[in-house]
Amino acid sequence: MDRKNFIKTLAMLPLIGTAMKLNELGKLSDRLAATDKMPVLFVGHGSPTNAIDINEFSRRWQQLATEIPVPKAVLIISAHWLTRGTQITAMEHPKTIHDFGGFSQELYEVQYPAPGSPTLAASTAGMIHSTVVGLDHDWGLDHGAWSITKQMYPHANIPILQLSIDYSKPAQYHYDLAQQLMGLRDKGVLILGSGNMVHNLRMISLPNNDFNNINKEYGFDWALEMNQIFKDKISHGDHKALIEYEKLSKSASLAIPTPDHYYPLIYTLALQGKDEQPQFFNDKAVAGSLTMTSVKFS
Ligand code: ZN
Repeated sequence: MDRKNFIKTLAMLPLIGTAMKLNELGKLSDRLAATDKMPVLFVGHGSPTNAIDINEFSRRWQQLATEIPVPKAVLIISAHWLTRGTQITAMEHPKTIHDFGGFSQELYEVQYPAPGSPTLAASTAGMIHSTVVGLDHDWGLDHGAWSITKQMYPHANIPILQLSIDYSKPAQYHYDLAQQLMGLRDKGVLILGSGNMVHNLRMISLPNNDFNNINKEYGFDWALEMNQIFKDKISHGDHKALIEYEKLSKSASLAIPTPDHYYPLIYTLALQGKDEQPQFFNDKAVAGSLTMTSVKFS
């Protein structure tokens, strides 16, 4: 163990020593003042270029921020942070991670210096009883997070945290874990799942093979079929069917060849309130095999 890791481990010991200690930390969340219930979002993030391009999708993200209460913090479950075990970012200043390849220099130069919140990280970890959530000091904000928040909150003045996806676990596990975060919605925390319901990068089809056409509306039949099925099941509150997504249709394995971009939706569904109806936005297929379809519950 090198010095840095040793110091980090020492620093974390009091926090991750036992589940009981984390439970005690959960009481910290009581110190956040109660607020009106925040909405919960699933946002289709699509291309990293949506972080800096002004287009119909990013404009909707900007508009969305004006329609909902200003959050005290944003907790993001991004398709791009897959771990073994569950982690939450707990640093004061999360770094901007450029976790993509082959894009313009401008995109690599983007910095999104939103603060973190070690206190909220610890209290959120303490709310989860089904596993011990690690307090992370290495990650930061990946593009699944900052591409959206840069458009929604361009001043980077709202604390942003990420909760990782334990990729060794099935959908039901994530649903059950996410439900334990329900109380954050009453404390001014905006919870945002960031992925894409239909996401098959191997089958992407761009008009003229030009990446500039990434956001041109176009979906393969199976992508449009799955988009409709997802919306129908969400509209009917049929979470069980969405958790057992492999059974939805023969096309499900094309839409979800791997569940990384789908699991964030599971977190959002788990946080839907009893009387809340879905409001869909950016409901479009692009590049044949992606959908930008997003949903808000409030
Ligand atoms: Zn992605």
